[in-house]
Amino acid sequence: MNSAAPFDTLNQLKFDNRVNRSLPVDPSEINTTRQVHGACVSRVLPENVIAPHLVAASAEMLEVLNLAPEEAQNPEFAEVFSGNKQLEGMDPYAWCYGGHQFGNWAGQLGDGRAINLGEVINRQGEHWVLQLKGAGMTPYSRMADGLAVMRSSVREFLCSEAMHHLGVPTTRALSLVSTGEQVMRDMFYNGNAREEPGAVVCRMAPSFIRFGNFEIHASRKENDILRQLTTFVINSEFSELGDPATSAHPQAIYIRWFNEVCRRTADLMVHWMRVGFVHGVMNTDNMSILGLTIDYGPYGWLENFDLGWTPNTTDASGKRYCYGNQPQIGMWNINRLANAIYPLIGEVEPLEEAIRSYSDRFNQGQREMMAQKLGFAQWREGDDDLISGVVALLQMVETDMTLFYRMLSKVDKQESGVDADLELLQSCFYDDAYKNDTYKDALKRWLDSYRQRLLDDNFENVDRKQGMDLVNPKYVLRNYLAQIAIDKAEAGDYSEVKKLLDVMRKPYEEQPGLEQYAEKRPLWAMNRPGCSMLSCSS
Ligand code: AMP
Ligand code: MG
Repeated sequence: MNSAAPFDTLNQLKFDNRVNRSLPVDPSEINTTRQVHGACVSRVLPENVIAPHLVAASAEMLEVLNLAPEEAQNPEFAEVFSGNKQLEGMDPYAWCYGGHQFGNWAGQLGDGRAINLGEVINRQGEHWVLQLKGAGMTPYSRMADGLAVMRSSVREFLCSEAMHHLGVPTTRALSLVSTGEQVMRDMFYNGNAREEPGAVVCRMAPSFIRFGNFEIHASRKENDILRQLTTFVINSEFSELGDPATSAHPQAIYIRWFNEVCRRTADLMVHWMRVGFVHGVMNTDNMSILGLTIDYGPYGWLENFDLGWTPNTTDASGKRYCYGNQPQIGMWNINRLANAIYPLIGEVEPLEEAIRSYSDRFNQGQREMMAQKLGFAQWREGDDDLISGVVALLQMVETDMTLFYRMLSKVDKQESGVDADLELLQSCFYDDAYKNDTYKDALKRWLDSYRQRLLDDNFENVDRKQGMDLVNPKYVLRNYLAQIAIDKAEAGDYSEVKKLLDVMRKPYEEQPGLEQYAEKRPLWAMNRPGCSMLSCSS
């Protein structure tokens, strides 16, 4: 390899497959659906597809791989990232994991339609796993086909990148490729199956290991494997905590590591609450051990602020994974992880202490985050009333959360009268209920105390606005925006996917001429499948 060249070609990518080298691999390479005992991964090859075609690629992730932007246009790129062709050094495999789904232990799940191609080591020395989603069956496919359709793949591809640009920890997406094949799906599990265009996303992350990877080995009392997996994760991703393999006190390192996972998970929940993201399926198999947002399925963005909202129709009755429950579910999931790793530690107290630290970290993080959203220098005693006040206000009449905070940054710290305030805020509201006196009074009362608080900080209006606009995005991947791009992509027009990818690169900036991407949900999207209703079918 010529290290002076600015870019590598696909064939120059270097692989360093730590997972297959370090962890027990399933001795069987027979690709049939089965229970896999005594192994962390199974070797498996992607299926071939008829006509792979690149829909879009992320410029940032090409750069991470040291690939030139043009390399994505090379026909070989679509061949490789649809799974038709392997590069030298790839060693594809699927993970074995389990999980608690909607509160119940579900046994073995695993990568049923995700195939890890290998781990690239880039010029900066970083390891990045390349993982195809929708590239065919694996031993973990259970009753399903291992495939993915365009609509869910567009959503995963775009949201992975949008979340990154919002500053939310997430797995990334390199590419979206259409397969030229049709896939049968019953979108709402109601007997209306239809053929949909197939697609494959190439995801990237330093590791795709989930809470469920630990749970499956614990459930099978495979304590040696549990120890190997935990040691592997610490040595590869948390090496600053020490090496449990050589330490005289490995338990202390495991505990430090668990504390770190609690911390990252709490921070992730603060981010989701800040930007109004609802994951939709916070099962323990969808919880990243690195604290990343992972597995974009029936996720959604809050439009009218509603703590009880979930985009996932599969969860509509229980609303277990609704917006307001996410922090508490994060803690429930942390508890499952604690149970899984208990055999390595043998003591309950340090695990309980770490779980308590999750709550403290989340509560403190949430306060600071809300203080930033409101434009205060920092959270201080007494701000909780203003915070609960704004949460109550947002729910009194249908109010678009994203627009509200963006407009709040324009409120003058000097009193200007409730009608002037309402005029400023009016584009946030979904109907006319904001004009009633009860709401007006409540808004006035809240804004009075808000302004009082602003006087204490004594920022200039423009400076406060600048700070608020750094944490309150203008552009988020609203469900209806994604749906417009999906409708076009299903008809073979990929321009809107590319456009959204681009707009979502700068979510906090004003983008003159692109204001239509910051508009609240239009009426047509109110009950449109894909906008307000989604399911796990993807
Ligand atoms: P999810 O709800 O998307 O997190 O998926 C739960 C489990 O179902 C995971 O083990 C997935 O790999 C598996 N799964 C979901 N969709 C498919 C599919 N089309 N084919 C095979 N496995 C799937
Ligand atoms: Mg999943």
